Amino acid sequence: MKHLTEYRDAELVQAVLVKIKRTVSRPWVIMEICGGQTHAIMRHGIDQLLPPEIELVHGPGCPVCVTPLELIDKALTIASQPEVIFTSYGDMLRVPGTGRDLFSVRAAGGDVRVVYSPLDAVKIAQQNPNKQVVFFAIGFETTAPANAMSVLQAKALGLTNFSVLVSHVCVPPAMHAILSSPENRVQGFLAAGHVCTVMGFWEYLPIAQKYQVPIVVTGFEPLDIVQGILMTVRELETGRYEVDNAYTRLVTFEGNRPAQAVINKVFQVCDRKWRGIGTIPASGWKLRPEYADFDAENRFSVGQIHTEESVLCIAGQILRGLKKPHQCPAFGTLCIPEHPLGATMVSSEGACAAYYRYRDKND
Ligand code: SF4
Repeated sequence: MKHLTEYRDAELVQAVLVKIKRTVSRPWVIMEICGGQTHAIMRHGIDQLLPPEIELVHGPGCPVCVTPLELIDKALTIASQPEVIFTSYGDMLRVPGTGRDLFSVRAAGGDVRVVYSPLDAVKIAQQNPNKQVVFFAIGFETTAPANAMSVLQAKALGLTNFSVLVSHVCVPPAMHAILSSPENRVQGFLAAGHVCTVMGFWEYLPIAQKYQVPIVVTGFEPLDIVQGILMTVRELETGRYEVDNAYTRLVTFEGNRPAQAVINKVFQVCDRKWRGIGTIPASGWKLRPEYADFDAENRFSVGQIHTEESVLCIAGQILRGLKKPHQCPAFGTLCIPEHPLGATMVSSEGACAAYYRYRDKND
């Protein structure tokens, strides 16, 4: 398959690994931002093929992982109501709230449906005028355009029975939060290619300059990832702190301007709570006042629900690059994918799930 098999070519990957080994002269800590990249690194053993000087740490770019527990509880409260059809991407159904998940709401008779697009949820609202249809609109910049489109579509159709439970977060403020922490270990970033497909990479220039870190836009196949690491290491070794693009087949500097316009039409910047990390100022999006009628938090009066995280879970430290999953005392014992304590174990993009699936506990 074009643009896939060639990026998994073992000989090409090996050639880049040789270049990395020749380039690196001292230890560097590099964070891959996206959970999809974390899983690709673990699945292909890339971290074990790198020279020992390079340590990869795993960033907060897993939308399920950073969605606050209290928002899951709000979703559960809404989905339990008899007049509601609650729609979501499938990966949110197994994420535990306080004591239960959306699957258990469905098992108890709730109408919880998996959709592949928020526009499917709009169709369900059209087909069920006597029901309230709610879409669980979580994610980073990648899913925001489609979620914004669903609100515009519902408004254009005059639907009064469609709303969205929003928890959108954005990558650049999380990078600021990581880099400005006194505990920070990260010296370079692999930026998430799909986020940059939408947003471009102009937002990263001030970050690279302010914190003196190289940032390389990177894809998700093995060759993409080792190429991103090579470009990052070259910058680190030569003292350059620039934003570079290793994903040119999809990402441009400006990104997808029409998609950005749709986001800006429907959403405005707000403070957001990140699971395990806490509130990061101006790190997310909420509906603009003119679309408040489509806000499920207002419609179902769940804005006051607040929930405490498990004290055992160290996901927040993992997502900031301070610890690795197997350093969590609950990893593989109290916390496994079938009985997750934290979202980084349940999510298909979570770092804990990646280590559990692809690594021996003692690796
Ligand atoms: S192993 Fe489980 S409890 Fe530990 S950090 Fe990961 S998700 Fe949290």
